[in-house]
Amino acid sequence: MSFSNLGLSDPILRAIAEQGYSEPTPVQKQAIPVILSQKDVLAGAQTGTGKTAGFTLPLLQQLSDNPSKSKRHVRALVLTPTRELAAQVGESVATYGKYLPFKSTVIYGGVGINPQIATLKKGVDILVATPGRLLDLVNQKKLDLSFVETLVLDEADRMLDMGFINDIKKILALLPKKRQNLLFSATFSDEIKKLADSLLNTPALIEVARRNRTSQSVAQLVYPVDKGRKRELLIHVIKKGKWKQVLVFTRTKHGANRLSEQLGKKGITSAAIHGNKSQGARTKALADFKSGAVRVLVATDIAARGIDIDQLPHVVNFELPNVPEDYVHRIGRTGRAGNEGEAVSLVCVEEHELLNGIEKLIKRKIDKTIVEGFEPDPMIVPEPKKKDQRNNSRRRSRNSKRDSSKKQSQSAKRA
Ligand code: AMP
Repeated sequence: MSFSNLGLSDPILRAIAEQGYSEPTPVQKQAIPVILSQKDVLAGAQTGTGKTAGFTLPLLQQLSDNPSKSKRHVRALVLTPTRELAAQVGESVATYGKYLPFKSTVIYGGVGINPQIATLKKGVDILVATPGRLLDLVNQKKLDLSFVETLVLDEADRMLDMGFINDIKKILALLPKKRQNLLFSATFSDEIKKLADSLLNTPALIEVARRNRTSQSVAQLVYPVDKGRKRELLIHVIKKGKWKQVLVFTRTKHGANRLSEQLGKKGITSAAIHGNKSQGARTKALADFKSGAVRVLVATDIAARGIDIDQLPHVVNFELPNVPEDYVHRIGRTGRAGNEGEAVSLVCVEEHELLNGIEKLIKRKIDKTIVEGFEPDPMIVPEPKKKDQRNNSRRRSRNSKRDSSKKQSQSAKRA
């Protein structure tokens, strides 16, 4: 199937062709016709599936099918959890809409509000925003949402994780009652279900690549290694493999900074990205990484959400995440939209339990390879866990079991 069978007009097809996309991805095939039929949509799709174009393309099509007769108003609103994701969605809108007469803009916090006010004043058709700054602008009477025809909640699960539910409710109350709602989420917790029930009107259900299944195009590998030698091993594999672009995950912001500095000292250009960095520093780090000015981007889970880098070849888990689902999100950064990718995890003896949890979640064993010269010392055994750590991990595993059985029964209901 090609894009031209999906009901998209020439200016949009031209922009798609310029991106070099020859075929719509599964989520695009399903979502585009349904959205064009004006239905509400509940879509289970992770980043990397092409979901952004899946809602952006039909949004643009609908706006051009019904040109506004009066002055410019915000007619499509896309809410995202993070600034990075907002910026990326905004870029997609600009890219796919380049041959259309619409104005779009992106607003998020952490940067000056005045330029945003000035842009809004000139009139905008498509607005991509994070919830907090959006409400600031509404409260300052700089933004009118009463003409919104389509609302998109992108990565709705993350929005709830990040505590945006009240902001979302406030925003919903500002929108016209009659509108189309599109909810995209990688996971379906009870909270998402509740939000979907209250927001969506007999939605079409779209689910591509099952959740918690890792993409087939990502080769996954574990390098067992002692904790104290992880940095050395990372430098070794980057240099030996002549890796030009690698996203490395650490568990803490401090760890991200430290690792990035240490890589720099060893002649590997690197930048860190995490929640304590200013928006300017985050944007610059991402731009430098995308342009190839830095080889390594060291990130924490939250900061990395929504990072969209075409054909990212390597992801390294310098430390495994505490929550197994984050592993799936992390390695979803590579092997995107059909490109080959490689995800390597450096695992020390203390992380074996975390690794088991991940393997259980993804329902497969990950191949383990010992790198010559980095054989783990058999004398090193895991330190006994502190009591509260033990309780936390028990609680997590209980929650995760409860969630996955709920998720299964939900997908059974949906099917
Ligand atoms: P997303 O899931 O929206 O984050 O998109 C993931 C990546 O897939 C982005 O880098 C897009 O540029 C790319 N992409 C989106 N649609 C297609 C397509 N039909 N063919 C190839 N790549 C695509």
